[in-house]
Amino acid sequence: MNKEAMQKILQKIKDYDRIIITRHFRPDGDAVGSTKGFWRMLQLTFPEKEILLINEDYSEYLSFLGGESEPIPEEKYASALGIVLDTATIDRVSNKKITLCKELVKIDHHIDNNPYGDLFWVEEHRSSVCEMIAAFYDAFSDELKIDSEAATYIYAGMVTDSGRFRFSSVSGDTMRLAGLMLDQKIDTDVLFANLYLEEFDKLKFEAYVYDKMRITENGVAYIYVDREMQEKFQLTQEDASSAVGYMDTIKGALCWIAFIDTPGAETTIRVRLRSRFVTINTIAENHHGGGHACASGATVYSVEEMEQLIAEADARVKEYKETHEGWL
Ligand code: AMP
Repeated sequence: MNKEAMQKILQKIKDYDRIIITRHFRPDGDAVGSTKGFWRMLQLTFPEKEILLINEDYSEYLSFLGGESEPIPEEKYASALGIVLDTATIDRVSNKKITLCKELVKIDHHIDNNPYGDLFWVEEHRSSVCEMIAAFYDAFSDELKIDSEAATYIYAGMVTDSGRFRFSSVSGDTMRLAGLMLDQKIDTDVLFANLYLEEFDKLKFEAYVYDKMRITENGVAYIYVDREMQEKFQLTQEDASSAVGYMDTIKGALCWIAFIDTPGAETTIRVRLRSRFVTINTIAENHHGGGHACASGATVYSVEEMEQLIAEADARVKEYKETHEGWL
């Protein structure tokens, strides 16, 4: 835990009257949970300050967690402290105006290939940025305030980014900090119902994915969610993207990939890569993407490039299986 970086960030927050928080675009539970949790924590602790959460996109799926701040005039950024959470590279930020802030803080758990900001606190081993926000609270709990609402946001991100505390990034610290949040009395029945209940039609789509998915010779499962499939099931991009999660329990398939056609005249296919044991972010990096060792994103611009990426993943899995034992 980098207490020095945390201390510097807390001091910066104290130095400013206006603080603007943002996260990456196309937010997931961790991006929404960490920003909303941090926002709420700072509002409770520093009621005299203007603490804002401003983004340019939002997630329908996570809308049950409530709204954010209204946009403010651009000139107000110049005197503000900007805090960017869960965003590996500044080009992925949702609120593009954040770079107009007087100073910028980065708090993240992704591999740090492109440092940005005047101050940064990056801990790649953390299961989520929400875990880091909980650790931040824990480190300064004599000064910072949280409540059940803030704890619910933070817990929501911890749960979703760790696959319900299942991924190998989950540590004893994760569980201790999750416990700290649960001490605030979170209604987990309501939270889990909002996060995980499925629409009937969505389950029909899931069944379709199982029917249509393919597997390569060496164990890469993949599905191409083309426009026809998206229209047939009336899928949003978010619905279509969830296809990757359906393939995560296939024996011998150490890597699984969803290719999602995105709207527009040009062929643009969003790629979501997942794996167990095998490192796949280098494959994503070959195709305009990046991410974690076992969870990455990329974009390909033709069906040929999609096939190329599948071949690269297949070769990676082949090499892994030839040089390791005990994989499942
Ligand atoms: P996704 O499949 O979009 O959920 O991405 C999985 C992980 O990879 C997330 O942690 C993303 O932050 C990261 N990621 C996705 N796309 C990119 C990209 N173009 N560059 C760097 N990291 C990415």
